[in-house]
Parts: sequence; structure tokens; C-alpha cells
Amino acid sequence: MDKRRFLQTAGGLFLTVSAGGLSIPAYASLCRPDDPYRSKIRNFEANHTGDIFLSAEQMAILKSVVARLRRVRGIVGHGRFALVGFDEMLAVARNYRKVGKFPKKELDFLEDIFYRDAACYGFLGEKVLNGLTDQVRKKDSTAIRRTGQYLFKGDPLHTYNALSKKIGGDVILTSGVRGMAKQMYLFLAKALRTKGNLSRASRSLAPPGYSFHAAGDFDVGQRGWGVRNFTSDFAQTEVFKKLVDLGYARLRYPADNLLGLRYEPWHIKIA
Ligand SMILES: [Zn+2]
Repeated sequence: MDKRRFLQTAGGLFLTVSAGGLSIPAYASLCRPDDPYRSKIRNFEANHTGDIFLSAEQMAILKSVVARLRRVRGIVGHGRFALVGFDEMLAVARNYRKVGKFPKKELDFLEDIFYRDAACYGFLGEKVLNGLTDQVRKKDSTAIRRTGQYLFKGDPLHTYNALSKKIGGDVILTSGVRGMAKQMYLFLAKALRTKGNLSRASRSLAPPGYSFHAAGDFDVGQRGWGVRNFTSDFAQTEVFKKLVDLGYARLRYPADNLLGLRYEPWHIKIA
């Protein structure tokens, strides 16, 4: 979609500022209580006017890409999949007949998703991995026992160890490091569930390249809470109350943030 059409369909959310021939999206009227932005983010799982959808042709490609990424994960294992970069993902696909080489149309699709400015469908956070083949540094990460997750050494690991020690066994690491393949898989699987609504998918998950899980952030939960750890209900848990009291609830995506993402009380900002 060209910028002009996008701006016509964006429901007045953006203004454009012309800078050296570039059109930069900027905010309009965020302070109004009836702001469409706020209601979109609060009702993040609904389809909204101005949402951007994939075409029918792209949906067919999305389906096969998601299935192939799942097969890559099956080969490398759920835990290690978190550290897999784009080139390694292609190599696994090439080397295992069970996965199958990524065909050109799937590669073009992934490239398009990665290099498209996510602001065009509503995600307004900054990019963390700028190149499609950028990798998280495996040797800088460490496996966290009994979680199936990795954390970067340094600040993320120290912070997690310190908060675990203070809060005790009720706090769990629910998601740590995520490299290109995992974030791509999570985002595209979400886009499949939203029937190609990229705007709706990006209200729940940072698009590939935009996730701070590639730079040190991590998610925590209350033991035994399962998927509810990834809902706003997490803010009602004892673990969250302790995170707040102890000063660890530095949230990347607080309620009514201006980044286009839902409230994520479980996501601890490190980077
Ligand atoms: Zn997170």
C-alpha cells in the first residue's frame, strides 16, 4: 500500500510531517479521552477501522511460512529456536528435507514484512535488529534452568537472579531472549490467527526486528498462572505487586503507552 492510501485509511491517527522529502508519521490528538488510538490499544484483539490486512495471495504465503518456521523449530528444539538467526533458519530448512528450503516467494514475503515500516500498520516502537540477518549473540546468552529460556549475561541475568531471590519461587521466567526466527514465528503465527490483520497482530506482539527480547528485555509470570501471565490479569498477582514494591516493574509497554502495543505488565524493560 502506498503512503497516500495508508494515510487515507489510517482513521486520522497520523499526521505527516515532511522532512527532506520523507513522510514521517506523527501523533495527533493523543490527549483526547475519545482518541481512537487509545480505544484501539485497549481493545487490542478487535479489528478496527483503518487496520491493515494482508492480501489473499499473501495469506497463502503466510500459511506456508508459518508451517515451515514451525518445522524449523521442531528440528532445533523449542529452547534453541530462541537463538536462531535468519541465515541459520535458512540453513536448517535447506539441510532437512522434512523442513524444505524456503521458496523465493516466502523469502520475498519475509523480507517485505521485515523491511516494511511497522508504523504503516500501527506499531510505533523503535527497531532493535536493523538487518534481516542480524543475530542475537549466542555466546552472550545463558540457559536458565527449568524454564527452557535463555537470558543475556550481564544486566538481564543479574536482574532476573536478583528479583527471583527476593520474590522467591512464585516468579518464573516466561520468555527470555528471542532472535529473528522466533520473533518472526510468533508475529506471523499471530498474523495468521488475526486472519492477516497486521495492525491487530502488532497490538499484541512487536513485529520482527522491533522486539527488545533481542536486546535484554524478558517476561516474567506467576507460577501456575499459565497463559494468564500474558494478560492484564497478571497485574493482579502477588508476583506483580512484589515487582512493583521492589522497583523491578520497569515496564517497556505500560498501560496506554504510545508505542502501539497493549499493556504488558509482565514485560521487564532492561535495554
Ligand atoms: Zn515480552
